[in-house]
Amino acid sequence: MKTNKPKSIIVIFGATGDLAKRKLYPSIYRLYRSGKLSDNFAVVGVARRPWTNAVLRDNVKESIASFKNDNIDHDAFSSHFHYHPFDVTNIESYQELHTLLNDLDGEYHTEGNRIFYLAMAPNFFGTIAENLKSQGLTSTEGWSRLVIEKPFGHNYPSAKELNEQIRQAFTEDQIYRIDHYLGKEMVQNIEVIRFANAMFEPLWNNQYISNIQITSSETLGVEDRGRYYESSGALRDMVQNHILQMMALLAMEPPIKLTPEEIRSEKVKVLRALRPIEVEDVNNYFVRGQYGQGNVSGEELSAYREANGVDPESNTETYVAGKLLIDNFRWKGVPFYIRTGKRMKQKSTEIVIQFKDLPMNLYYDKASNVHPNLLVIHIQPDEGLRLYLNAKKGDHGTVSMPIAMNYNNSSKDKMNTPEAYEVLLHDCMRGDSTNFTHWDEVALSWKFVDIISQAWENSKANDFPNYESGTMGPKASDDMLKEDGYHWWNVSNRLD
Ligand code: NAP
Repeated sequence: MKTNKPKSIIVIFGATGDLAKRKLYPSIYRLYRSGKLSDNFAVVGVARRPWTNAVLRDNVKESIASFKNDNIDHDAFSSHFHYHPFDVTNIESYQELHTLLNDLDGEYHTEGNRIFYLAMAPNFFGTIAENLKSQGLTSTEGWSRLVIEKPFGHNYPSAKELNEQIRQAFTEDQIYRIDHYLGKEMVQNIEVIRFANAMFEPLWNNQYISNIQITSSETLGVEDRGRYYESSGALRDMVQNHILQMMALLAMEPPIKLTPEEIRSEKVKVLRALRPIEVEDVNNYFVRGQYGQGNVSGEELSAYREANGVDPESNTETYVAGKLLIDNFRWKGVPFYIRTGKRMKQKSTEIVIQFKDLPMNLYYDKASNVHPNLLVIHIQPDEGLRLYLNAKKGDHGTVSMPIAMNYNNSSKDKMNTPEAYEVLLHDCMRGDSTNFTHWDEVALSWKFVDIISQAWENSKANDFPNYESGTMGPKASDDMLKEDGYHWWNVSNRLD
């Protein structure tokens, strides 16, 4: 049952970790502040550190300290938090947790509703799910839901194994696989822009769109996460999940209803229509890169291979660009270009929809390039839309020039734009799984990505590092579009 003020206990496994502190506690706080949480909630933190309730509450207060002037008593809020230390591999400890949850159910009137949020390393996911079930923590009078962080597996076989393990304890509709991009305001807006505007949907196909570009660039390098990143790389870290999810939202057919089942089923069809690539062809469709040293604003930055925990001969990609083709009626022949990387020139996630040129345009300025219509969806850090049209150039008779129409979502009420984790936690509490990934999506995405990983793992990239820190990636990525007669649109000036 969907209610706007859900009652539940949220058990956070990994309560002393980075994600809990930086994202989960502030998000729970924001839900509380906006009145989306009733007083009937409790949070139970689990980790090994010998903290007490008081220590956890101090940490929670520290993580929300920046929310100063909103007339919320931080002590009252943090009093809902309880700490229960144990090693999650120790099956006996689950009984004590069980008792605590039953007690808290009584105290907070949470009606036996439980969210088990696994904010821990993925190798624990299966064990925790199994122990929760075998120790009876999932058999309550209310509902139980399992929230799982990324990465969901390392490739298709490992994801399948993990899925089978957690499915022993939870049904598919109890499992909420987080892809935090799906909680972002402008990612959620893709469907609305497409399906609520008469001026876009009729043009949203291969007759009028020449190509679609998805860019997710970061300026930071791997910093101190080198060891983790070595086993991941940009393809697994970004493409398998966030980028393919955005592509599916851009390409899917209109769902017949706004239910999780209908929306996910349309996304799955897109992933099924993705043209598979043969291992031998990977380098015709995908470009890999690794950042080298660079100088950004006078600061000398070191190469990926110099980072802690990184092999000095590392073959791991910190950049991926690719050309995806969707073999269906709507998209046949329209390339979806994607790119993502670390240590790039700017931090930005954006989508550019490039419309086809008119068959004949009398207003082109012969001296300059043709200016196609572009719709740009800014996902982050700015949130908004920009539409490039052509209009008359003053004083130049019949010559046109591009003009931009902007909508800046973040400048209007930046303070109130909900955080992705806040949205997703609330959705989970309300039982709305629309913005979480279904197993079918995960499986198809891995199968697609695995071919690329295989090709790259089996061949050393002799040109690494092949892009300088502070640039937009290797030249081969630009060449890939050039061959098709296109170029990347670096339109991410700030929206103003
Ligand atoms: P982290 O800072 O390393 O935290 C790991 C947590 O697990 C700690 O609270 C640790 O606490 C606990 N833990 C480790 N072994 C345990 C055991 N045997 N029994 C009980 N608790 C144990 O990791 P994180 O960055 O928060 O990431 C957590 C998950 O979220 C990972 O799957 C990660 O991929 C994903 N994620 C994180 C971010 C992020 O921004 N951090 C973003 C996206 C996804 P003790 O040492 O006290 O036991």
